[in-house]
Amino acid sequence: MRIYNTLTRQKEEFIPIVPGEVKMYGCGPTVYNFMHIGNGRTFIIFDIIRRYFEYRGYKVTFIQNFTDIDDKMINKANDEGITVKELGDKYIKEYYQDADGLQIERATTNPRATEYINDIIKFIEDLIEAGFAYEVDGDVYYSTKKFAEYGKLVGQNLDDLQAGARISVDERKKDPMDFAVWKAKKPNEPAWESPWGLGRPGWHIECSCMAKKLLGDTIDIHAGGMDLKFPHHENEIAQSEAVTGKAFANYWIHAAFVNVDNKKMSKSLNNFFTAREILEEYDADTIRFLMLSGHYRIQINFTKELLDSAKSSIERLYNCINNLDNLKSEVSKKDINDQEIGYLKSLDKYREKFIEKMDDDFNTADAISVLFDLTKDINNNVNINSSIELCEKAEALIRELGKPLGILQNHMKKDLETEIQELIDKRQQARKDKDFALADKIRDDLKNRNIVLEDTPQGVRWKKID
Ligand SMILES: [Zn+2]
Repeated sequence: MRIYNTLTRQKEEFIPIVPGEVKMYGCGPTVYNFMHIGNGRTFIIFDIIRRYFEYRGYKVTFIQNFTDIDDKMINKANDEGITVKELGDKYIKEYYQDADGLQIERATTNPRATEYINDIIKFIEDLIEAGFAYEVDGDVYYSTKKFAEYGKLVGQNLDDLQAGARISVDERKKDPMDFAVWKAKKPNEPAWESPWGLGRPGWHIECSCMAKKLLGDTIDIHAGGMDLKFPHHENEIAQSEAVTGKAFANYWIHAAFVNVDNKKMSKSLNNFFTAREILEEYDADTIRFLMLSGHYRIQINFTKELLDSAKSSIERLYNCINNLDNLKSEVSKKDINDQEIGYLKSLDKYREKFIEKMDDDFNTADAISVLFDLTKDINNNVNINSSIELCEKAEALIRELGKPLGILQNHMKKDLETEIQELIDKRQQARKDKDFALADKIRDDLKNRNIVLEDTPQGVRWKKID
């Protein structure tokens, strides 16, 4: 397997520390808000990397943290008049709802930063003892000048980084690029006892500490969103390698952004969507399909049109599965014959091709094309004259290749009855909300499908007309 390593700026053969095992750490959300689709893409990418390693037979330990203490958490909790702990509990729950909704498998562990305060304090003590950090009035700073390799992840030295950075001038720091690993308590902030007085950890130190504690000094893969490359990941490297004297992560993987309507997503541009909003209209297979249709290192565009087109693409793949399902009850032959065994063998080339694409730095876009080629082949060759066993094995292959992508594992589609009832409910709600345009649209869409609605004393009924 070859992976593009941000650290070396090239694709490299993946060599695990322990043969057959992968230790992976991904930077998780700061739990002060709902997951937006940009985060959603990052977490889907982590999920696919993890699933694909498992598909290839690796035992994966995947740690994704929750940052549950930082400025954003404190401000939001104060705004809402709740504690930081309560805020964290709330949005961790919401995170799981959305992640489950997106068919993201749960990480091996999701550690919360606040559960590792003692380990973090010990980590900072080690940094100070090794001469890489210093205390000023209850704050502790990391001394970037002390770490000769600072800047290696982004490929710039300290002077270049300093010239390019917007740094707030703080007289107490020895160097403008030094960053806080421990922050002294300010009013209205939660705080923990430490050798430097009451305070709380900085953001970067949390990940260094939890990765070391749960995965060891050196990990195979560290992943995160592109925006975390600097300073977050650069600082993680500086902290961890200063303490252990060993490489922190052998491979660094960074996931690109999502644009909405070709623009950077932002609340002010009104093109900001939560995962939950999108999940109300589209299923997880569709959303994942769109996210996977571009390589993970390339920004993708997110529009309603592209979602609709992803929806019809995923339906085409499910149609093949449905056809096979239907055939199973219609065909008369039970056991596979020699000719069919030969045909089934010929389908192996799609599995090989799929693996070849995914082995090449998780090229999901090409892997999806292989799925279309496979279903086309099956549609052309499996029919009413085939055996039940062939239908089953063909379906199993489609599902096998869908699994590492986290798609094609469901039973499509809802039956007509359920689908129409949901539309009727949605129309009733729209009427209640006085959104008559939407209510009319639903009625017209149904009419175009020859389904008419009737208001009766027992509620809305529907019937199909010819
Ligand atoms: Zn992190």
